[in-house]
Amino acid sequence: MSITTSPPQQPVLSVRQLHKSYHGASVLKGVDLCVHQGEIACLIGPSGAGKSTILRCINFLERPEAGEITFFGERLCSEDGNIFQTASERVLQAARARMPMVFQHFNLFSHRTVIENVIEGQIVVLRRRKEEARQRALACLGRVGMLKRADFYPDQLSGGQKQRVAIARALAMSPALILFDEPTSALDPALVQEVQSVMRDLSAEGMTMLIVTHDMRLVRSIATTVHFCADGHIAESGSPALLFDGTHPSRIGAFIQADAC
Ligand code: ADP
Repeated sequence: MSITTSPPQQPVLSVRQLHKSYHGASVLKGVDLCVHQGEIACLIGPSGAGKSTILRCINFLERPEAGEITFFGERLCSEDGNIFQTASERVLQAARARMPMVFQHFNLFSHRTVIENVIEGQIVVLRRRKEEARQRALACLGRVGMLKRADFYPDQLSGGQKQRVAIARALAMSPALILFDEPTSALDPALVQEVQSVMRDLSAEGMTMLIVTHDMRLVRSIATTVHFCADGHIAESGSPALLFDGTHPSRIGAFIQADAC
């Protein structure tokens, strides 16, 4: 009798021994991280630990200095002996398009309408035809409940609405992975819920996400994996059920308990 086992799934994203410093000060000191298809990985930890820098290095908004990043098996940067190499700009740009980032402060173009914001990247980066991009933009705005505001300008929207447009813009790029950098922390408490709700919908649809957040309600409600970042490392990783059970003895437990108070 033969026993068949399914082959191990290739991670969407793999980060190994990532290093980054600013002005000689070491910020990332060997970050190891893996994100698999359909996973919702949340990066938590104290301010200044390096969480945003990890995201920004992953999509090359910042240049890492050492280590390896692999996206769907393709190396974006790697080390061969002591020589650190990055992939070509063409490869990096293609990868960046497939892992759009949603920022704390939305980063919408203020002089463009909502739908123009969602169309722009599709045409410039993905070279979609205008009508195709428009149809996709309308569909994505519908998914985040912003269809009725398609012709508004960002200044005419609340923070929660702006963030939902930013999420629609990311969705319009047909992403394999969405990077979220503190998506709810610039919002008034009353508006946090609407963005959390959109993110929960995305998680239910199987979207792969890597989320930097201090929002423990969001983490509890959608994370499949929690990574605790401290001093430029991933100090601990685990399932939210394990880490949030109130008895976790380590630093992550103390951090979560302090946050709950
Ligand atoms: P976190 O997201 O965990 O709050 P960050 O990744 O934003 O942490 O920052 C980690 C450290 O790197 C902080 O000390 C911050 O001041 C520093 N840092 C981040 N970006 C820059 C930059 N562009 N130039 C200089 N220092 C930076």
